[in-house]
This record gives sequence, C-alpha cells and structure tokens, in this order.
Amino acid sequence: MKFANVCGKRTETTKGARGVCPCCGSEVIARCGTKRINHWAHKKDSDCDHWWEPETEWHRAWKEHFPADWQEVVCKADDGEKHIADVQLSNGNVIEFQRSPIDPEERTSRENFYKNLIWVVDGTRLKRDYPRFRKLDGKARATNLEAYFLIDFPEEYFPSAWLDNKVPVIFDFLGTDSIDDPDEFKIRNNLYCLFPQRYQGKALLANYSRESFIELAVSGKLSITQPKPQEQSANAPTQKKPKKRRAPTHYYDRRKKKFVPRKRF
Ligand SMILES: [Zn+2]
Repeated sequence: MKFANVCGKRTETTKGARGVCPCCGSEVIARCGTKRINHWAHKKDSDCDHWWEPETEWHRAWKEHFPADWQEVVCKADDGEKHIADVQLSNGNVIEFQRSPIDPEERTSRENFYKNLIWVVDGTRLKRDYPRFRKLDGKARATNLEAYFLIDFPEEYFPSAWLDNKVPVIFDFLGTDSIDDPDEFKIRNNLYCLFPQRYQGKALLANYSRESFIELAVSGKLSITQPKPQEQSANAPTQKKPKKRRAPTHYYDRRKKKFVPRKRF
C-alpha cells in the first residue's frame, strides 16, 4: 500500500516508519528498498484484504494520475466486508488496476462488490497479448459513434480471462520498455476499452487517448454505461437516388373525352 495511517494521518512510507492499515487496523511497516517500490507491508499472516496484490511501478504510476485521497479508498459493504479500491472517482466509480492473473471467481466477486467498476489491465504481462491484439488491424468495424468499433470474434484478439466480464475492461499496452517508432508509440499509448455486452456475438471496443481517459475520470465524466452504436458497413447501399418524374406523355381531353398525346415543343 502507498498510504497508512500514522498518528491518524494518511502518510506515505519513510524508512523505518510504522503505521496502521486503514483497512484492517493492524500494524504495518514501511518497506523502502531497491527490489520493490516503497510500500507499507503487514506483518506476515495478516488477514487483511486478500484481493490486494503486490504493487508494481505500473500500478503506482496509474494511481498517481488521481488525487491522493481518491487512491486506496477503503470500501465497506453492508455486511461489513471491506476492500481497498485502487481508485474511487468522485462519481463513485471504482478503477482497479490489474497486472497479475486473476481467478474468474474473484474477478466476478470484485465486480459485484464494487458494482460501478472499471478494470484497467496491463496488456503487456504476457508476450503474446500485444501481438494478438494487433491482429485486429483493419478488422474492427466502424460504427456511427466516433472511436467506437464492433469486433467479430473478440476471443481472437483479447486474453480469455477478460472476455466475459460484467463491466468494461480497459487494456493498456504501453508497458515499460521504450518505444522508438512514433506510430507504434501512438497505438500503444492509446487505451482500448472492451465493453461487456455483445451484439450478435460482436464486441464493442472504444479507443481513448490516455490523456482523454484520465481527463474524463478526473473530471467525474467517465461513464461505465455501454453506448448502443450502429455498425456502419462498408457495403451499405448508398442512398437511393430519387426517380426522375417523367412528364406525362398524355393528357385527358375533356372535349374528346379521351387521353390524347401531348404536343412536344
Ligand atoms: Zn490491513
């Protein structure tokens, strides 16, 4: 954890410091070393939040985009169950940053517990994840909503562990290696949000710039509601041209009581 209570104040680690875990109330010790990022650790065999995973630079960097008091928020259910949300936004939505593999049952439990949850998943954990995602090039179908695409066979492009969620999952493929190619950097610096609901087997994917996603989240405008786009097929019939109305060739001659040809000039 990044924060513990020291003399009742949320405090970051300093070497040798001791504090109190804001979730379970037991003593925590500041760990400031070179192997891992500085963090507060429970003594062994702690019975604190079992959903908590060891943080990496990736987690920390993500959390630090948000105000300090939105980070590591202790959320309590009516039955007393408590967990530490990575980030809770001002509109109540929770963002969980996930790097390690997660058991599907635990994933569902977290989605049920937080309700308005958005996952941000490190898309570089396994080597094959990003190349698989790139196979999507040219296959995503445009919709009537800008930056929203429909995808046939999402299982061919995304990790199976993140395909049957109840909530949106955002893939972050940036990783920590330096990327020299500016086009490649642009693709990896964008975020890709896979929505839960399918349309006849097609998945909905939104493409955000990293900055716009953070801006939406910080301003409280980030919604987890799935929009309803319409596919714009490349083969859609073009609008029918209105038929030219031809001038009538005959008219009714009342005197002759019959149709007679019009004279042309
Ligand atoms: Zn604890």
